[in-house]
Amino acid sequence: MIAAERTDTMADDTKATLWDVMIIGSGPAGWTAAIYAARANLKTLVFTGLEKGGLPGGQLMLTTEVENYPGFRDGIMGPELMDQMREQALRFGTVLVEDDVSRVDIARRPFRLFVEDEEYRGKTVIIATGASALWLNLESEARLRGRGVSACATCDGFFFRDKDVVVVGGGDTALEEANFLTRYASKVTVVHRRGELRASKIMQDRAKANPKIEFVWHHTVTEILGEKSAEGVKIQHTQTGEVSTIAAQGVFIAIGHKPNTDLFKGHIDMDAQGYILPHKHTNTNVKGVFAAGDVRDHRYRQAVTAAGEGCMAALDAEEFLTGEIQMDWGPAEPVEMSAPG
Ligand code: FAD
Ligand code: NAP
Repeated sequence: MIAAERTDTMADDTKATLWDVMIIGSGPAGWTAAIYAARANLKTLVFTGLEKGGLPGGQLMLTTEVENYPGFRDGIMGPELMDQMREQALRFGTVLVEDDVSRVDIARRPFRLFVEDEEYRGKTVIIATGASALWLNLESEARLRGRGVSACATCDGFFFRDKDVVVVGGGDTALEEANFLTRYASKVTVVHRRGELRASKIMQDRAKANPKIEFVWHHTVTEILGEKSAEGVKIQHTQTGEVSTIAAQGVFIAIGHKPNTDLFKGHIDMDAQGYILPHKHTNTNVKGVFAAGDVRDHRYRQAVTAAGEGCMAALDAEEFLTGEIQMDWGPAEPVEMSAPG
């Protein structure tokens, strides 16, 4: 229920209703799925997530200007975009539970989602719980996030034309971000905590051949410098303990992402990193349970691709429901993997 309108009776109604579509997550994937499902007259419930586990509105709530979401010629602030999506979903009758789903039972239908002891039942589930960038967990990093500190070069690289930037990390993501940033930045310094990279050989070769990229080995970043915006990083040698600084207007943290899938372990097929494995279209391995957005995509990780997948998942759920008018409740059925290619 929307918090401002919540009453005990309405909360009871929400729990008594057998929802057509229950969507977990309120990022671009979740809201787009809700817009399509609710507009198709399906009874649609969205669990928005709470700060304690998720982030209502998703990752774009952490950023300032979004310049690459189509339809906004002059860009739009991340929180404003998410607010617009939320309002659009509400306009078609989406109902909200402003909390985290804490447990799922998707072994039997109807599927059941739990917020602590409160149970919600639905015919289909769309998982849109996204992924979270890993951070260094420094106070200065949190303070300057969106003010020169970022975890997304595709999103924010444009703002660092002719500037010096630092990329932290030694995996494929760090080198991909570093290579991408050389389109704009005058110099990119990759700070890595070891003397060898974790990244694949091809990414290493590409980065090492790029004249704009420099490597600083055996160093960790201990502080992001700057009051109102990033001005550099303080680094420490992992062996000697020596402290030094690098001047930079941009600092990109690229030490990995974690998909928000702990809830579904043991129920939904995932890869080694915990991303949901794609089955046919947006299906998961459980019939009637779909996944959309960053929770199953570690390649593109963009708002527009997540929104696109939210649309796809809602259409897949709708088709599933149309075929299941005479639904027999019982054990959930598996979905075959699609043939390669
Ligand atoms: P998310 O946005 O991650 O949303 C996940 C949702 O799931 C959240 O609402 C969360 O609360 C919820 N959730 C998680 N667990 C639970 C639970 N247990 N119960 C209920 N809810 C739960 N992309 C662009 O295209 N352009 C940009 O300019 C851009 N800038 C970015 C800047 C930053 C700093 C970051 C971090 C990312 C940026 N991105 C950008 C990437 C973009 O934000 C993501 O690709 C997109 O948000 C993914 O959408 P999603 O809906 O899949 O997941
Ligand atoms: P990753 O492979 O786990 O690498 C993370 C990097 O960050 C490692 O170098 C790690 O250092 C470093 N790191 C982790 N925590 C740190 C901390 N607290 N402080 C400093 N450094 C820290 O993650 P990823 O690069 O995001 O890649 C994830 C997966 O996606 C990989 O399988 C990768 O191959 C894949 N991927 C592929 C491509 C591509 O093929 N184009 C692009 C992006 C990602 P250590 O090395 O010392 O552990």
